Amino acid sequence: MDIKSLYIHELKNEIKKLKQPEFRAKQIYDWIHRKLVESYDEMPNLPKELRNTLKENYELRALKVVQQLTSKKDGTVKFLFALSDGRVIESVLMKYHHGNSVCISSQVGCRMGCSFCASTIGGKERDLIASEMLDQIYRIQALSGERVSNVVVMGTGEPLDNYDNLLRFIRILSNEDGLNISARNITVSTCGIPDKMRQLAEEELPITLALSLHAPNNEIRKKIMPIARQYDLPDVMDAFAYYYKKTGRRLTFEYSMIEDVNDGEDQARELAKLLKTYICHVNLIPVNPIKERNYVKSDIHKIQKFKNILEKNRINVTIRREMGSDINAACGQLRKSYIDQSSI
Ligand code: SAH
Repeated sequence: MDIKSLYIHELKNEIKKLKQPEFRAKQIYDWIHRKLVESYDEMPNLPKELRNTLKENYELRALKVVQQLTSKKDGTVKFLFALSDGRVIESVLMKYHHGNSVCISSQVGCRMGCSFCASTIGGKERDLIASEMLDQIYRIQALSGERVSNVVVMGTGEPLDNYDNLLRFIRILSNEDGLNISARNITVSTCGIPDKMRQLAEEELPITLALSLHAPNNEIRKKIMPIARQYDLPDVMDAFAYYYKKTGRRLTFEYSMIEDVNDGEDQARELAKLLKTYICHVNLIPVNPIKERNYVKSDIHKIQKFKNILEKNRINVTIRREMGSDINAACGQLRKSYIDQSSI
C-alpha cells in the first residue's frame, strides 16, 4: 500500500489495524505531507518497532531527481524526476512576483495526440498515482527551499483522463494537515472531455479549470487536436459553461498561436463571437515549436493584433510570458530529449 496517497482518515484506519494509538497517524501524516521527509527513518518520534512495521507494510515512495536545469533568463527551474519504476516525468518551478508556481505532470506520456505537443509523441505509458503528483511539489519545495503557493496541472498528461488519482491529489494537497494549498490556487488544464468536466463541476472544489481551445471552430480544432473528433465544440463549451454555473469560477481558455493555422484576424473575430457570453479569460500562448513538427510560432505583431480584436469585444486577454525557453521548459521537451538520448 502506498502510504502517501492515503487520506488522513484512511491512514487513521490503518493505524487502528496496527493497534497503535490514533495520534500516531497524525504524526506520520505530518512527517509525510508537511515536513516532506522521504523515509520512515526520518521520523524520530515514532518507536523503532512501528517504523519497521511501516517499512514492511506501507511503501513510502519518493521521486528521485535525474536532472535539474535553471533558466538564466528568468530563474525558472525544470526538474526531471525518476519514478520508482524508473520511468521519468518532468515538472517546472516558476517564480512570479505573486509567489511560486509549480507545473506538474499527471501522466507518464499522454494519449491525446495534440499535433503541436511533445508530450504525446510516445503515447501514454501509465497514469500517475496521487502520491507521484504530490511528490513533484513536495520534492521541489524541499529542494528549492521555496514555498509553493500555486499549482498548475499543465505538464505532461491529460488530468481528466486520470480522474480519480487527480481528485485524490487535489484533496490531499489542499488538506489543512498537509501543505494546505488552497483549491483556489490550483488550476487544472484539460483538452476538453465533457463528461469529466461536468463530473468535476459536481465535486464542490473551487479549483480553476482551463480549457485548451486552440481554435475558434471545430474544423480547425480537429486538425490539431484529435479529441475534437470525439467531442464536438458546442458539447465542450456547454460542459465548460456548466462548470462556471456550478462553481462560479472564472473560466480560462488557452489558445496556442500557430502561424497560419489559427492566428488570423478572421479567427480572432470568430473566437470573440464564440466567447461572447462567457465570463472568461483568454491566455494566448505563442506555440513552442518542437522538432518533430513543422509548426511555426505566430509573429508577435500578429498575436498583438489578435489580442486587440478580442479586447475590442470586451474579452479579457493576456499573452503568456515564455518562461525558461533556454532550458527546454515547454510541454514535455525535456523528458522527450532525455528519452531520445538514452535510447541511442
Ligand atoms: N492535457 C492538458 C494539459 C497539458 S498541456 C491540456 O490539454 O490542457 C498544457 C497546455 O500546453 C495545453 O493548453 C496544451 O495544449 C499546451 N501546449 C502543449 N504543447 C504546446 C506547445 N508546443 N506550444 C504551446 N503550447 C503547448
